[in-house]
Amino acid sequence: MNDLPRVPVLGVARLSPLFAALIRERHELLDRLHETDPAAFAVAAPGIRAVAAGGDSRVDAGLIARLPALQIISVMGVGYDGIDVEAARARGVVVTHTPDVLNDEVADLAIGLMLAAARQLPAADRYVRSGQWEARGPMPLARKMSGSRLGLVGMGRIGQAIAHRAQAFGMSIAYTARSAKPGLPYRFVASVEELAAGSDFLVLITPGGAGTRHLVDAKVLRALGPKGILVNVARGSVVDEAALVDALEQGVLGGAALDVFEDEPRVPARLLALPHVVVAPHIGSATHATRQAMADLAFANLQARLAGQPLLTPVPECA
Ligand code: NAP
Repeated sequence: MNDLPRVPVLGVARLSPLFAALIRERHELLDRLHETDPAAFAVAAPGIRAVAAGGDSRVDAGLIARLPALQIISVMGVGYDGIDVEAARARGVVVTHTPDVLNDEVADLAIGLMLAAARQLPAADRYVRSGQWEARGPMPLARKMSGSRLGLVGMGRIGQAIAHRAQAFGMSIAYTARSAKPGLPYRFVASVEELAAGSDFLVLITPGGAGTRHLVDAKVLRALGPKGILVNVARGSVVDEAALVDALEQGVLGGAALDVFEDEPRVPARLLALPHVVVAPHIGSATHATRQAMADLAFANLQARLAGQPLLTPVPECA
């Protein structure tokens, strides 16, 4: 594939520097040209052969329609809910993503967020730094995680990696998904509300998009209850964020640890004002090793398509 001609590749949204560097070595990267210079984009658009995207990128039918030579949308990320896959398919454009290489990283973060919320780690850090330990003595007591009940919403690649780790904490594990997985040693519960009612921790790890929008609503949060902790490492859209803020403020829900938000990177001030909420800036896969593996896979997909070779990891709709 080393002899592939250099082609224009449109980078949409803020591309990972690792993915961008690989593209620049072999091609001409037009970094968000459609947003930064519409006139130059209009000139370049007919020649653009590939779109490089991230997990939170948006590529709609309108943009696809403006790229007549487009062959591939390569997403560096496993979630592709921002891509109009139907519009792409209708034009013969393939969409690829980067599953599996980030399972460990996202599962590690989920466990970290569960511990951070249960043991109040960010609050403990603030307690020491602000001098309260010295002034007031011990911190209020926290919650035990080992041996408690985990409810997983989503039991795919990453959900299974989280469950595997949770077993080492002696947790009892139940899950919901679109269908039961008879081969797995965990209890399937068809309804999210019923799952929440029987869980101490409800961890979300489904795709985003229309199919899961507000899957976790006020009723589910009430079922999880004043001792329950919600952990979201899926997508912000899966949770009704306004209902979440209400539930936390009113003590209907015990706590939350969130890596993703409905309107990222904007996070509601009311949410940030709550001491029993742990927040992270969408860092599920954000380590050097994993981001490099994702960039390598996203680039390999792009090169494979341009060379007319089989794709490594097309999204299921394009497989
Ligand atoms: P996956 O293997 O496709 O698993 C997705 C799981 O969600 C499956 O078990 C699926 O059920 C379930 N699901 C889908 N729609 C559902 C619905 N309406 N109700 C209940 N369950 C539903 O995907 P993955 O590789 O584990 O990744 C999952 C998601 O994690 C990604 O799509 C992305 O949104 C998110 N993610 C976030 C980060 C981060 O940085 N925070 C990083 C990576 C991924 P079935 O098995 O029955 O189909």
